[in-house]
Amino acid sequence: MPPVALGEFELIHRYFGRVGASRDDVLLGVGDDAALVAPPAGQVLAMAVDTLVEGVHFLPDDPADSVGHRALAVNLSDLAAMGAVPAWFLLSLTLARTDEVWLEGFAQGMAALAGRHGVALIGGDTTSGRLTVSVTVVGFVPVGMALRRDGAREGDAVFVSGTVGDAAAGLALRQGRISAVGADAEALRRRYLRPEPRIALGVALRSVASACIDVSDGLGGDLGKLCQASGVGADLHGDALPVSTELRRAVADGHRAMALAGGDDYELLFTVPPDRCAAVERLASVTPVTRIGRIRGGTGVRCDDVALEGEAGHGFDHFREP
Ligand code: ADP
Ligand code: MG
Repeated sequence: MPPVALGEFELIHRYFGRVGASRDDVLLGVGDDAALVAPPAGQVLAMAVDTLVEGVHFLPDDPADSVGHRALAVNLSDLAAMGAVPAWFLLSLTLARTDEVWLEGFAQGMAALAGRHGVALIGGDTTSGRLTVSVTVVGFVPVGMALRRDGAREGDAVFVSGTVGDAAAGLALRQGRISAVGADAEALRRRYLRPEPRIALGVALRSVASACIDVSDGLGGDLGKLCQASGVGADLHGDALPVSTELRRAVADGHRAMALAGGDDYELLFTVPPDRCAAVERLASVTPVTRIGRIRGGTGVRCDDVALEGEAGHGFDHFREP
């Protein structure tokens, strides 16, 4: 990579030499040509990569610690949706400039989340160009226990964790498209800036859910993907959608649409066979989950008998014509 003011080696060592948990299964971390790790016996590796580009996935004035947090959180959420426990991650960082205040905040936001989930940064790459953060995460799941998108069957119940639409409202607030004040504004902004990956719920769902996906592009669109993978359709009950009081107050008329089409919530959307629904209600004491609909034969997602179309039906797509 081209030289940067701080020095590439110095920068890596200072900000990314020790991020997250120290783990016995990391035999060699940041510093050599490759990391060496020891995967556990009897488990398969779950791996995912997600990239955040400035101006596309985050706003240029988003706080640096939020960018660090989100870059890891969106990846942890992908593992949560598989029922996997995250262990290690790699960071590919493209920087427009070496702003030490920004780097400090970014590394701190990432390290705090990594520490809480016991994951270790084991390597990466640093280069210059438009600010882009790409994280690759690796985790474990026992053989045959992973949650997939393709297991939903007719008659299964559809559930979602937490509340949906808040992150989209938080983004709209930052962009001045809606208004809210005080604690409401703070809560919605926080849902966008600091999504919490549902790792514990994913693990608990291993023996309960028939299919699972995380809500990154919008509930309707992500349910559509799950249905397509499973070869089924789904019916949603609009009144059942979990909408926070903050979102109801901030978006009086459009909160239903935002709950269906808004992205970036990183909640888990999953299906459960009828005989296992009681087990889900028991999980609800740990993580809030809401029953929102039912899997049927056929294709496509309907809400209150109306087929979802447009953004609610397809979710966000970088390459689709608006
Ligand atoms: P190489 O030239 O062999 O690819 P680099 O000079 O790119 O190695 O990286 C040196 C070491 O620093 C490697 O262990 C690499 O994994 C690590 N590294 C580079 N950039 C990052 C980063 N942004 N975060 C974590 N580790 C990094
Ligand atoms: Mg090398």
